[in-house]
This record gives sequence, C-alpha cells and structure tokens, in this order.
Amino acid sequence: MSHLNAAPAVFAFARYFARPLCPSCNHEQFVPERSAFIDDGRIRHGWLCESCGHCFCTTVEIGRLSS
Ligand SMILES: [Zn+2]
Repeated sequence: MSHLNAAPAVFAFARYFARPLCPSCNHEQFVPERSAFIDDGRIRHGWLCESCGHCFCTTVEIGRLSS
C-alpha cells in the first residue's frame, strides 16, 4: 500500500512547483533531482534532464508562510 500512498504527494508537488524546460533541449522537467531552502521564502531546485543529461538550477519564490 505504501506506493499508493506516495503517489498523490508526488502529483501535488509537481503541480505546486512550476516545471522548467531544459535550457539545452527544451525537455519539460517533472521532478527536481534535489531541492534546498535558500532562505525564508525561496527554494532552489536542482534538475537533471532525463532527455539529455543536462544539469541546471532554478529558484522558486514561495513567499512567506506567515505574514
Ligand atoms: Zn535536456
């Protein structure tokens, strides 16, 4: 049952964060290779293109959780 429980979280994650295009081949990226909080309100995603193997990073503004 564990794989069934994990799937919705992955879809919610993919919906919440914008999907970038690979700067090398324009292949749409779906799941970040790794993610890290930079500071309050920003996350950096590291991507590994499954199409061409190009690595790149994006920064996402998520805003502050409380105002
Ligand atoms: Zn690519």
